[in-house]
Amino acid sequence: MKHWFSTLGYKLNGFMQGRYGQDELSRFLFMTGLIMMILSRFPYLHLLYILGYALLVWSLIRTLSRNIYKRQMERNRYFSIKNKVTQKFRLYKKIWLDRKTHRYYKCPSCRARIRIKKPGKRKKIMVTCPKCRQSFEKRT
Ligand SMILES: [Zn+2]
Repeated sequence: MKHWFSTLGYKLNGFMQGRYGQDELSRFLFMTGLIMMILSRFPYLHLLYILGYALLVWSLIRTLSRNIYKRQMERNRYFSIKNKVTQKFRLYKKIWLDRKTHRYYKCPSCRARIRIKKPGKRKKIMVTCPKCRQSFEKRT
């Protein structure tokens, strides 16, 4: 038995040879799956158990996968989505914190965000985009 345990680590190393292993995405899938499985104990949320289970299996399959290139592409996609989400959250937080002094507009031609100091009593203002120099009218 002792021998079995001492060789387990060695065997595990051999088993994981050439496999992708863990990354941030599999850890994220694992944690989300675990949380879903815990939440599935609440009434009306039983279906989350299956979903959580699927995420755990997905996480495991990714870890054991031999297609390293494909897993790296998935990881990149995960990071770009995660970045977009955190950026959105940061923006909404800023809009909320600035709500008394500034307004945020989206440029209709280049979609850049423009931060404008709140004009006094005027109903409409002209906004010029600093990026593409296009002017547009906005209600305040
Ligand atoms: Zn623009």
